[in-house]
Amino acid sequence: MTAVSPASLPQALAVLNRVWGYSAFRGVQADIVRTVIEGGNALVLMPTGGGKSLCYQVPSLLRPGTGVVVSPLIALMKDQVDALRQLGVRAAFLNSSLSPEGVREVEQALLAGELDLLYVAPERLLVSRTLDLLERAQVALFAIDEAHCVSQWGHDFRPEYGQLHVLPRRFPHVPRLALTATADERTRADMLRVLELHGAPQFVSSFDRPNIQYRVAGKEGPKAQLLDFIRAEHPGDAGIVYCLSRKSVEETARWLQSQGLDAVAYHAGLSPRERNHAQERFLNEEGLIVVATVAFGMGIDKPNVRFVAHLDLPKSMEGYYQETGRAGRDGLPSTAWMVYGLADVVNVRRMLAQSDAPDEVKRVEAGKLDALLTYCEAASCRRQILLDYFGEQLREPCGNCDVCMNPPRVQDATREAQMALSAAIRTGNRFGAAHLTDVLLGRETEKVLAMGHHQLPTFGVGRQHDERYWRGVLRQLTSLGYLTSGEFHGLSATGKARAILKGEAALALREDSLQPRERVRRRDS
Ligand code: ADP
Ligand code: ZN
Repeated sequence: MTAVSPASLPQALAVLNRVWGYSAFRGVQADIVRTVIEGGNALVLMPTGGGKSLCYQVPSLLRPGTGVVVSPLIALMKDQVDALRQLGVRAAFLNSSLSPEGVREVEQALLAGELDLLYVAPERLLVSRTLDLLERAQVALFAIDEAHCVSQWGHDFRPEYGQLHVLPRRFPHVPRLALTATADERTRADMLRVLELHGAPQFVSSFDRPNIQYRVAGKEGPKAQLLDFIRAEHPGDAGIVYCLSRKSVEETARWLQSQGLDAVAYHAGLSPRERNHAQERFLNEEGLIVVATVAFGMGIDKPNVRFVAHLDLPKSMEGYYQETGRAGRDGLPSTAWMVYGLADVVNVRRMLAQSDAPDEVKRVEAGKLDALLTYCEAASCRRQILLDYFGEQLREPCGNCDVCMNPPRVQDATREAQMALSAAIRTGNRFGAAHLTDVLLGRETEKVLAMGHHQLPTFGVGRQHDERYWRGVLRQLTSLGYLTSGEFHGLSATGKARAILKGEAALALREDSLQPRERVRRRDS
């Protein structure tokens, strides 16, 4: 172990400068680097692109021995190691992609003290061969990247990460640095517990990305909306379009291509070769649009992504923040754009409900989705809501989100909400939005007649509004938790709805999604 060295920061700056060519540390980097060089543990919460890597890379070069980096991103290890080697850093990785000879070479280099940094996949780290090896080597520090994976409250739980408590047990004197870009209170508590970081300093950077403009709109023909958006605001720019399913990824990519845009599809169903190719093109070409499932982007560091578009809802606020965070890492103006509709809300809720996670986890996940939906329906600054979710207060509205730039008018829609809720209740809490809309509008469809719903007191009470209006009301009621979707997309009133029905609570709804627009496209969601 090194003694505490008061000169650690100047040395660190010298390394930063000599190896990376950077002149200064960013924000809390300097404090983190000093803490670790001096042998302390730390927890680092920094948004994507904030500069987490240097926090362990620099100390690894300054402390005796090898810095061991635990990372779940096997696909990226080779690139990370290649990049470090180009800078003259002695780096290597251990994961399942290596041949037995490759493994032996790395092991020998480690024992001979010839490595500055070693990247290890968690499942590889945990086998006794690796742990024994590390005990015989000199380890400068453990950096646990994507440390939120220890927690089943997070959206990325990995069982191997839960086993990482062997590190404090077997290497109590080696500093541990846990790093993540996403952690709520519960996840943070799990990281502290599993990695035994109680009492260690926590370095939390602001999650605000002021150069990203946040925008959310109702879905009314998503492909055409997307095309309008790209043509009007980001022609020729690099961007990522996220879709939920492989099928919609393929369709959207093909459609953008047919409209003359440079687009490529990316999802887990493609071969590794095809995926690599898409990734390479994205990194190296100027204005490529990648249409992808969430499989795309973890760890991708392209500074000039000008927009991230969501054609489907992410599953949580964390997911949304992480995905939109891939825009504008160079600090230049960028856009996070999303459209969503009632069908999305219903779909994502169903996916969560059908997962085989324990009930308690499902409840937490449902809460994370609800937070995102509240954000979507927001009538106040989106950035304030987003940052508030991550425990950060923004005093003033940001001026750089759609709500700030174009404040929506809100309308008292308590009466309409009562009509919609009672339509759901009187039809037995089991019909979808289309049928409820027919009932409210007084349409004598086959289904309405067959069910006898034309005889209900609710039948036709909503004639003064149009279909789009009722779809908007039903979506907002569902997003805000007054209606919940069950089997076959049926909507039923929740306990929360009672206050509205009794007139004890009022409901203000955004006008923009209620009023007819000039160009109303047939909604395809
Ligand atoms: P994270 O892991 O937090 O997403 P990275 O460590 O990949 O972020 O850093 C993001 C980008 O910022 C990288 O291109 C990195 O080289 C750059 N960077 C980080 N720290 C500094 C610094 N002190 N000075 C200049 N560039 C930096
Ligand atoms: Zn705002």
